[in-house]
This record gives sequence, C-alpha cells and structure tokens, in this order.
Amino acid sequence: MYILDSSVFIRGHIKEGDTATVPGVSSELVGDSKLRFEVMRGEGMKIQIPQEKTIKQVSHVAERTGDSGVLSMTDVCLIAAAIELDGVLVTDDYAIQNTATELGLDIEGIVMDGIKQRRKWIFQCESCGKVSKTIQERCRVCGGAMSRKNPLG
Ligand SMILES: [Zn+2]
Repeated sequence: MYILDSSVFIRGHIKEGDTATVPGVSSELVGDSKLRFEVMRGEGMKIQIPQEKTIKQVSHVAERTGDSGVLSMTDVCLIAAAIELDGVLVTDDYAIQNTATELGLDIEGIVMDGIKQRRKWIFQCESCGKVSKTIQERCRVCGGAMSRKNPLG
C-alpha cells in the first residue's frame, strides 16, 4: 500500500498497486494534478480519514523532531494514514520524511531515478522486551520505557 502526498499527483508520479491518500490532498490540487487524483480515485485509491489518536501521536513526534512548525494538517494526516494502513509514504517533503522516519515508517522519494530512502526502526520495551514498529512513550503491555533499536535495514 502506497500513501500518496499531493506532490505525487503534481508530478504525475503514478504508482502501481494499492494506493491511498487523505481528503486534504484533493484541495491542494488543480488542473492536471486534480485530474490525476480523480483518475486514481476512480481506479480504487483509498481515501483514509485518520483517527484522532493517530493524529495526536504524529503531532507529538513532530514536536519532538522540530517539524511541527512546517507540517500542515494534511501532512500530519498523511503520516497518520501511513501508520494506520501500514503503508509506504510517497513524498518529497523533507519534514514529512523526517517525522515519518522517526515513527519507523517506510518512505519513498518522488525523484524518478533518485534516492530511495528506506529506513526502518523498531522500538523495544526495556522491561518486558515487547517490540513495536511505531514509537510509544510507554510499553502498552507493562508500562516500561521504550527505546529505539537499530534499523532493520
Ligand atoms: Zn513492556
């Protein structure tokens, strides 16, 4: 599942396979890019409306990474959608990439032959060893402190 940022539609960087985006992206598009959006929607692109708690989780991490000032609500929703759908976020926005990486999400740039950045972190409870793909303040099992482990590659 690919989660598509508005720049995907603007650049016409069409992805094969399952795709999704968030409602806010549509309002950032005009002309050809809007048409691409409608075509992909007609072909089954999912419109994900993230839950409040996931949005809060993203906002919290963005504050810590220093990206919260530059992320729009649509950006935050895109990251939240990627968490909920366990998808690969497709964007060339640095602040989105940075926050998504901090959350352990897979990201893919839009530059056609360019850098394909894939970094996956895992988080592990220091008390019970419970592993999580997304960042959490406290372990959901025992309430212990979570720490970030090396990327899985
Ligand atoms: Zn634990």
